[in-house]
Amino acid sequence: MVATILYVEDNPQNMRLVRKMLNSAGYQVIEAEDGMSGYQAIIDLRPDLVLMDVNLPDIDGLEVTARIKSLPDYAGIPMLALTANAMHGDRERCLEAGCDGYIPKPVTKNELLSGVAYYLEQAERRKV
Ligand code: MN
Repeated sequence: MVATILYVEDNPQNMRLVRKMLNSAGYQVIEAEDGMSGYQAIIDLRPDLVLMDVNLPDIDGLEVTARIKSLPDYAGIPMLALTANAMHGDRERCLEAGCDGYIPKPVTKNELLSGVAYYLEQAERRKV
């Protein structure tokens, strides 16, 4: 079964890079370029995992995460934050907002794919 991953990201270069990494591992990628369309894509399409940029043009990625995690039907979808601001307490802010995990930018292929595989497997186990 091919896992579907939603990537919410407003920077086209990051989008291209991460999509390429995910496609190379066989994942199907859905894209959203701002917070509200990301939120709506989660509700409508129910991806297996969400990669969430933090700084977005409308509502930020942490706000989207908090809203999704407040919905019992969607709270089980793993949500991983991607952010460049790794030094300023962002990890704590992400976890407080309800993110399951955290991947620092610049993203390396190895970190991305091992993180994604880990959280997909965790979510799969919770279903059984
Ligand atoms: Mn951004």
